[in-house]
Amino acid sequence: MREVRIRDTLSGAVQTLDPDHEVGIYACGPTVYSRIHIGNARPFVVFSLFARFLRSEGYKARLVVNVTDINDKIYTAAAQAGEGSAKFAEEMTAAYVEDTDRLGIGRPDVEPKATETVEGIIELIAQLIEKGNAYESGGDVYFRVRSFPDYGKLSNRRPEDMDQGEEAGSASLKEERLDFALWKSTKEGEDTSWGSPWGPGRPAWHIECSVMAEQELGASFAVHGGGSDLVFPHHENEIAQSESAGRPFAHVWMHNGMVDAAGEKMSKSEGNIFQLKEALDRYGREAVVAYLISGHYRQPLAFGELPMEEAVARVERLRNFFRTQAGRDPGGPSREQQPGGSREGPPGSRIEAFRDALADDFNTPRAMAEVFELVGEANRDEVPGAAEAVAEMLDLVGLGSIAEGQDDEHPEAERLMQERQEARAAKDFARADEIRDRLAEMGFEVRDSADGPRLVPRS
Ligand SMILES: [Zn+2]
Repeated sequence: MREVRIRDTLSGAVQTLDPDHEVGIYACGPTVYSRIHIGNARPFVVFSLFARFLRSEGYKARLVVNVTDINDKIYTAAAQAGEGSAKFAEEMTAAYVEDTDRLGIGRPDVEPKATETVEGIIELIAQLIEKGNAYESGGDVYFRVRSFPDYGKLSNRRPEDMDQGEEAGSASLKEERLDFALWKSTKEGEDTSWGSPWGPGRPAWHIECSVMAEQELGASFAVHGGGSDLVFPHHENEIAQSESAGRPFAHVWMHNGMVDAAGEKMSKSEGNIFQLKEALDRYGREAVVAYLISGHYRQPLAFGELPMEEAVARVERLRNFFRTQAGRDPGGPSREQQPGGSREGPPGSRIEAFRDALADDFNTPRAMAEVFELVGEANRDEVPGAAEAVAEMLDLVGLGSIAEGQDDEHPEAERLMQERQEARAAKDFARADEIRDRLAEMGFEVRDSADGPRLVPRS
């Protein structure tokens, strides 16, 4: 069992996970007001694979990813779609499950929903009022930020730079500008509500996560995760609520950087592939997963056609590696080899380095560099056990199917091949050549056959 170190957003220091206790991980999931985009898929992939890695090291990990199915945005989007908000949230939850299932990395251990947690939320709010940390005002309940001296410790912001981002209408109900809502009375146009000691209404967003985390993992748990855009106000407020109620809450805060499409020239189609579903349709699940682990989780990740095509090319390089290895030994992967071979030879030491990288603040790009080093070595010279070792490493990062030769589809390359045919038919040879070069970069060439053109991996 390796010592696993994580850079903690709260302390700024590297923290070590306790191997003797269950590693409870709570990662903030989506607010289901639309189909999720590829940015929402990043924490899903990072925390799912992190839990998988911990288990493979012998830790007892439990991953909780919630579904926020009560939220202002859902009322607005449901009204625009001309649907009831409960039905709309259910449909969007089903779409989220469908899209993330397609990533092929399994589901979190528990996926609590805000709508199923309202009772516990009301209890916590009542407790905060009793302790003087919250107050009722006009049917709403607000958290009294001044009552929590540690407020701001996660985001390190000055109070004057903090803005709860709540609607202007609530300002007159608050004692102070920085206070934030725990409970909101039912407003016009809202078609769901729950009874409470403060009248009919619904929980606000931050309190939902405080309660869902505690219900699934206990008052004190190992890791709280989510996107870096949630540090303030969402996570700052979760800490204030839970700690004021006497819960120690999370030991380590682990935040992933944003997926950034800002630098990309947005074409019409790129507006769509920002959706996870479109990205999966176009590039295939392996390229999407390979893309999402291509940068360190804490860093921002640039999104666009180029990084996606690079991910397709990396997947294709791995596929070619397994084809070549199978060709070297017609009986398939060598049977005498233990998985991964000896820990001292080239494959074994690569696996050790790969795991060391993941144990060191879940450094997936450094881990993948080990995979490609071994692939390069085994492409040059025969390395016994290389195929098994690469398969073992890929499995840990959700790409094991490449070794099995499954998912052998290249939707984006096929789309480009089609576009090339059209360019040739229109005698736009410059465009056709440009596409041929792009396909070559992705690892393909087009060969004409009796059934028309087909894609062939470049050797
Ligand atoms: Zn949350």
